[in-house]
Amino acid sequence: MTSVVLKDIRKSFGSFEVIKGIDLTVETGEFCVFVGPSGCGKSTLLRMISGLETSSSGQIVIDGEDVTHAEPSKRGVAMVFQSYALYPHLTVRENIGFGLSLAGRPKSEIAEKVEKTAESLQLTHLLDRKPKALSGGQRQRVAIGRAIIRNPKVFLFDEPLSNLDAALRSQMRMELTDLHAKLGATMIYVTHDQVEAMTMADKIVVLNAGRIEQVGPPMDLYNNPVSPFVAGFIGSPK
Ligand code: ADP
Ligand code: MG
Repeated sequence: MTSVVLKDIRKSFGSFEVIKGIDLTVETGEFCVFVGPSGCGKSTLLRMISGLETSSSGQIVIDGEDVTHAEPSKRGVAMVFQSYALYPHLTVRENIGFGLSLAGRPKSEIAEKVEKTAESLQLTHLLDRKPKALSGGQRQRVAIGRAIIRNPKVFLFDEPLSNLDAALRSQMRMELTDLHAKLGATMIYVTHDQVEAMTMADKIVVLNAGRIEQVGPPMDLYNNPVSPFVAGFIGSPK
């Protein structure tokens, strides 16, 4: 079953076309990684899938439903950012539960779901702290918790680990892989880190200046890159 379908998606800022016609299908439960150089349009594409940005033309279908013009909250997606985007004045508990509070869910339900989410991310002992009293890795876990609690069909990650040091990055990589296996949700993950792409992806999408250069499983791209550009990104010898 298909989860996210992009049909000839384009985006211009003024007269500058940033996304130049993207066609892509992501299957349900797939871990799909977008790679490409800085400025090639990865974040813009992710923001259009989430609805934070509107596309100039084309169609976006999520779980069989045309969401091209739908509000972000109506798309069944949750986004996790590099900068965590936590509320500094709220506790971990309040940050994780924020979306459900906003949606007017009953307090008891929120409390229960926050506990469960925190437990799955080893955050239980930190629930009453503010973000400034957390490490980078803990903050990123809170940001992930805030996404999980909404039970989205699709998770969108924009370079979530790039602010972490190497050791923590490799630990979080494993945690995210476990989380993906446990939830079975579709994940679209932007990174410029080859190791993340090669180890986490079911499918890699190589972007270059607003176009898809190549799509495929990591080893296909590694063994048969269509261009030196792809070879350069995937680290294969060609
Ligand atoms: P990436 O995430 O791959 O580094 P982005 O999607 O952030 O790339 O940006 C792609 C291009 O679009 C860049 O040239 C960037 O400057 C431009 N861009 C992104 N957002 C805007 C905006 N709101 N207004 C004008 N230009 C933008
Ligand atoms: Mg970006």
